[in-house]
Amino acid sequence: MFTVARDFSFSYGHRLYRYDGKCKRLHGHNAEARVVIAVDSLDERGMALDFVNLKAIVGQWIDDQLDHRVFLADDDPLARILLDAGEPVVLVEGNPTAERFALMIYEYAKSRGLNVERVDFWETKNCRATYSQ
Ligand SMILES: [Zn+2]
Repeated sequence: MFTVARDFSFSYGHRLYRYDGKCKRLHGHNAEARVVIAVDSLDERGMALDFVNLKAIVGQWIDDQLDHRVFLADDDPLARILLDAGEPVVLVEGNPTAERFALMIYEYAKSRGLNVERVDFWETKNCRATYSQ
């Protein structure tokens, strides 16, 4: 088996609703996500997946859908206020944790036909969540 990976960076805001800790306050992160692709054999070019394609597919989606947006739980009352103010709020089922970002990126890459082995997501340089099946 071969694996290739590409790292992506983006910024986002969030808060954890019904959470007893400082992350209940609205704040932001400069996140890193690593998308790992696994294949059994290489293509005719000797590649598992062209890094250019990985960037075009996943990187563009991250830029368009995740970067510089605010992620809130779908029942967070702050969402209505920010949406009414025209802020780019994305509602997620449950809290917008690092685990959920790893899952969101994994599911998107999978939906585009990529053989995703896992997604590692660093909320900070010391805190990482991973999703794989
Ligand atoms: Zn946070």
